[in-house]
This record gives sequence, C-alpha cells and structure tokens, in this order.
Amino acid sequence: MSEQRIAVVTGGTRGIGAAIADALEADGHKVVIVDVDEAKLAEVGQATGRPAYRMDISDFDNVTEMVAKIESEVGPISILVNNAGITRDGFMHKMKPEAWQAVINVNLSGTFNTCRVIAPGMRDRGYGRIINISSMNGQRGQFGQSNYAAAKAGLLGFTRSIAQELANKGITVNAVCPGFIKTDMTAAMPDDVLKAETAKIPAGRIGNPEDIADMVAFLAREQSSFITGATMSVNGGQYMD
Ligand code: NAP
Repeated sequence: MSEQRIAVVTGGTRGIGAAIADALEADGHKVVIVDVDEAKLAEVGQATGRPAYRMDISDFDNVTEMVAKIESEVGPISILVNNAGITRDGFMHKMKPEAWQAVINVNLSGTFNTCRVIAPGMRDRGYGRIINISSMNGQRGQFGQSNYAAAKAGLLGFTRSIAQELANKGITVNAVCPGFIKTDMTAAMPDDVLKAETAKIPAGRIGNPEDIADMVAFLAREQSSFITGATMSVNGGQYMD
C-alpha cells in the first residue's frame, strides 16, 4: 500500500476513467474527477463522493484555473492520469481540418496542458506519478484514425521526453496503451468492425476497463518508482511492440 495521495483522473466519469478512479481509490488514494459534461459530473460526483470539477483539458487557461481551485480545495496533486480522449474518425483524404484539430487539441495538447500546470508542484514536492493513456492504435496506426493515431503516438514521445526531464525529481511518467476495451467509445463502432476486431485478439475477448485500471494503479504506486518512460501495452496480445 502507498501513502494516501491526491489523484486527478481526466475523463473520470465513465468508461476507463471511472474504472481508474475506482482502482486508485481501492489503493487508498483521494480521487478527484474532471470532465466536460457538468450534469454527468454532478451525478457521478454525488454517487461516488469524489470531488468533481468541470475542466476542459484542451483549454490551457481553464486547466490553470481549475488546477488552482482543486489544489486549494482538495490539496496538492501527486498522481495525474491523463485519460480523457475523443475520436473524430474518417479517411484522411476526406478529413475536415476541424476533425484533425479537435483530436490533437484534446488527446495531445490536453495532456501537455495538464502536465504543464501540475508538474511544477510535483517537482517542488519531489514526488509525482503521471500516467498517460495512449492507445494500441497510436503504436500501430489505424485505418480511418490518422488524427487519433497521430495524437496517441505523439503522447508516447511526449511521455518519454518528460520522463527524462522529471526523473530526478521523484516523478515517473509512463504511458498505457489499451487495445480494444468495452466502453462507450467502442460501443460507437459498427457491430461488424467490433466483431472482426475481437476475432483478432489472441486472448479471445475484448478488454474491460478494469484491465487498464489495474495497470494504472500499479504505475501509480510508490513502489513503481524505477519504472519511467515506459509504454505498457494492455491489449490481450493483439499488438506486440
Ligand atoms: P469515453 O468513454 O469516450 O470517455 C472519455 C472521457 O473523456 C469522457 O468522460 C469525456 O467527457 C472526457 N473528455 C472528452 N473531452 C474532454 C475534454 N476536452 N476535457 C476533459 N474531459 C474530456 O472513453 P474511454 O473509452 O473510456 O477511453 C478513455 C481513454 O482510453 C481515451 O483516451 C481513449 O482514447 C483511450 N483508449 C480507449 C480504448 C477503447 O477501446 N475504449 C482503446 C484505446 C485507448 P464527457 O463525458 O463529458 O464527454
């Protein structure tokens, strides 16, 4: 067991983020969830008792303002899980620049924004755990997801770079690459695509949010202090890097 820490999980109201919040709480941490949907935040905050804040990770000024609010109302953030993400799929040759930019803004710049604002406090305190949720499709590329794959691949380079910068300050930075996981994001996929993808998974099943949450909780522990800059694949063997 680790000492109780304050953890922020972006996109923490549902899917993988909600499972990560459960797992960190089970490890004894105080979990703060942030998201963009105010009604959902209020509902989940009330149901779980977790402090819940509206924060748009793609907006640097909003992140600055909300992190200051969280740190003054809850306390210093020691664990940051950059989980929030969106998709705007389409063929590259037909993709609207807005669809490209929206995905880069949330999935890549959003993680820069939270790290940029939260890491200085971690450096001052000499302790931190940052876990960035990338994707198997960032490792291998994916038809129809050039924007998403570019952002998720970018996260891996970002993770390795800041892992080097922060390593001597007691801060680890790692990436987790989920394969196909049962959430709203995959429920939006056509049934035949989902079936075909499931058939390609050596483990013979689609993943559960808890499969990812267990890895995140492991990386968030104090005992994981010698793991940094790593890319952890959690995909049932579908892609082996
Ligand atoms: P999800 O069910 O679609 O949830 C995404 C969460 O991100 C939602 O809570 C959403 O908030 C939040 N969010 C979106 N834009 C935001 C913003 N600008 N600021 C703050 N929060 C924002 O997704 P999921 O399937 O659990 O996926 C979680 C992460 O795992 C994502 O990064 C995804 O790319 C990655 N991943 C998922 C899979 C998979 O198979 N599901 C595979 C590989 C990687 P609202 O509720 O307000 O919309």
